[in-house]
Amino acid sequence: MSASGTGDAAAGIDVDGARRFAQRWAAAAGQLGYLPLSSAETVDILLGHTLRLAAAVTAATFSDEPGRDVGRALVDDHLTEPAVLDWTVSALGRDFLPLVLPHLADPAPARQRVSQLQGTLAGGYARALRNRVFAQQSSIRRAAWSARDAAEQALRDSEARFRAVFTGAAIGIGIADLTGRIIDVNQAFADMLGYPVAQLREVNVGQLFHPDDAPGMYQHYLELIEGKHDSVRVEKRYYRKDGRPIWTDLAVSLVRHDDGRPRFTVAMVEDISDRYEMQRRLRFQAEHDPLTELPNRVRFFDELAAALADDQQQVGVCFLDIDGFKSINDGLGHGVGDRVLTVVAQRLVASVADAGHLAARMGGDEFVILVYRCAGTTELVGVAQSVLTALAAPIHVDGHQLTVTASAAVVESAQAGRDPTDVMKAADTTLQWAKAAGRGRWAAFDPVRGAQDVTRSALAAALPAALDRGEFVVEYQPIVRLADGTTTAVEALVRWEHPQLGRLGPDRFVTLAEETGLIVRLGRWVLERSCRQASRWHAAYPHVPVVVSVNIAARQVSDPQLVAEVAGVLTRTGLPPHLLQLELTESAVMATGGEPLRALRRLADLGVRLAIDDFGTGYSNLAYLRRMPIHVLKLAGGFVEGMRADGPQGDRDERIVDALVRLAHALDLTVTAEAVETAKQARRLAALGCDQAQGWHFGRPVPADQITAALSRDQDQGPGQGPDRGPDATGP
Ligand code: C2E
Ligand code: MG
Ligand code: MG
Repeated sequence: MSASGTGDAAAGIDVDGARRFAQRWAAAAGQLGYLPLSSAETVDILLGHTLRLAAAVTAATFSDEPGRDVGRALVDDHLTEPAVLDWTVSALGRDFLPLVLPHLADPAPARQRVSQLQGTLAGGYARALRNRVFAQQSSIRRAAWSARDAAEQALRDSEARFRAVFTGAAIGIGIADLTGRIIDVNQAFADMLGYPVAQLREVNVGQLFHPDDAPGMYQHYLELIEGKHDSVRVEKRYYRKDGRPIWTDLAVSLVRHDDGRPRFTVAMVEDISDRYEMQRRLRFQAEHDPLTELPNRVRFFDELAAALADDQQQVGVCFLDIDGFKSINDGLGHGVGDRVLTVVAQRLVASVADAGHLAARMGGDEFVILVYRCAGTTELVGVAQSVLTALAAPIHVDGHQLTVTASAAVVESAQAGRDPTDVMKAADTTLQWAKAAGRGRWAAFDPVRGAQDVTRSALAAALPAALDRGEFVVEYQPIVRLADGTTTAVEALVRWEHPQLGRLGPDRFVTLAEETGLIVRLGRWVLERSCRQASRWHAAYPHVPVVVSVNIAARQVSDPQLVAEVAGVLTRTGLPPHLLQLELTESAVMATGGEPLRALRRLADLGVRLAIDDFGTGYSNLAYLRRMPIHVLKLAGGFVEGMRADGPQGDRDERIVDALVRLAHALDLTVTAEAVETAKQARRLAALGCDQAQGWHFGRPVPADQITAALSRDQDQGPGQGPDRGPDATGP
């Protein structure tokens, strides 16, 4: 291999040998330390060094500088393992020399030169290494210095910020150690409490707690300094140096050591006295009646609920309502009414305050007294009586002397239960009893009577859903012709199959349905149902015509839809109009004038028969009746009942019935007697010329299929010969 390319200096050097040397050098460097370059690159670099050193040894004039350069280059190339230097120095003396010796005439100076180069290489290496370490150390030092400066600056900044916040804050800040010693407070805190800062610094946190702090507050603070919590936040009342209380929003945070041990506490206190006072006023307004300043119903219910929740005590309520207060308001004006209410409130408070009872205004002219730890009805009645007496004294307002009475209801939790709503419901019911008994009275709650009232309203409430669920059924009671005992009609009578209470008769719910207005829907349903049934009978037994007689409540008569509805039902069910009879009560008919009377006429025009039910129990004016489109009078059960008896009573009722029958016939009305229970009654009615009768003697109200069975028998036996009971039939 030629040495061209390595220059004259390398002339005469065994280049292949030099490469092998460089390869061994690189291998040794790789084994002894870490090679920052690839091994091929390392070999190239080291070959350059080898040739340079060889050139120095073989040069005409010697310089040891290349040794220093190579030593420095080794460090620059990061071949800085001390073992590599060792290897290099010894390899130069051992393996390098043979590379150059064959080309030299005199080997002695060459040896000399190599050893000099060994020395300068080691020296260059060492200096370069030291320089590098110095450089590294100074850059680390510079970095360390600048880091410390930054940390100190940050600390100074945060301290300054903290100071600015601490001194300038509008909220009070205090720092205390774990013994409660106050380390520092800011001006705002000192101002809030009215002490100089220095004086506050001598106070212990424990002295700032107060017996009327929220329960558990001190305990919570103790747990905070034990490290169980990181912060506490409460509304707290402080007392200023001048004794004036202030309300604050207090937040205490725990500051810990790095290892988590509690170190000190920081309290931040905001004066919320204004807000607190406003809230207090709002709360007062929310819980008090503005006119009388008595607690209002909201507050009363809270108190009642709290008292009832404590089952160690019985609670009593005395519920009051001013009698006829409306007439004071209407007659003398609301100003006088308000004055009366204010005086009543004052008298109530005066008469119960000593005993520790609570007087409240429920609204309007209703007041209530809550008796805590009630000893029983006797105590409550005593309260009611003394209150009623206190109210009885005349009230002077605007030159008027007014005598005011009130009605009172007394209720004990022992009887009405521990639910506030139940207690007040009982009070309400009882107040109605007191009112019904007259003015200025009290009534005591009676659970048995209350239960009856409750079922009444419970039934009323359950009616609509019951109708939707189909809990109603219709039964039919035969109406017979007295002359031959034929069933000419049936009266449709509604019943309620109540899922809990069993079958209920109309006396239990018809009045309720009238009061709630549900009677319109219920009546419509009964009408539809009965007409459909009657139409089926008519289709199946055309030779035994049966009229279906349906009760219509007064409320329905005034319903403008009634005529259209009846017409619609007839069309839908296909029932001939003359087979439908509507029973109207006397009062419903008598009250009619104008529209309703026209409605009756239009019903009659449809071909429907109209009957007056329970005739004789109201105040019917027969002359007026003449102008009405009525076909049938149903005599109330009372007259017929009298006819059961022998003697003067029976005779008198018989004469009344006789007169009524004659009058009715004079008006072209058919007479039906109700509640005929015995054969004797039936006979006497027949003798008086009464046309038809209905009652247990002829048959009780029964489900439709029993009527169907009877009709089927009648059809088989032909008209007029049925098993129907005539006047002589024996009773059930
Ligand atoms: P009402 O229209 O006078 O019906 C006759 C009532 O007398 C029926 O009572 C019937 O069961 C009863 N009764 C029948 N025969 C005798 C008897 O021989 N002796 C006695 N003491 N009573 C007898 P009920 O079924 O309890 O019906 C009571 C009232 O309820 C009915 O009196 C009627 O005014 C009303 N009502 C019944 N169903 C309806 C209805 O669908 N709509 C309306 N608005 N009222 C109805
Ligand atoms: Mg009836
Ligand atoms: Mg009747």
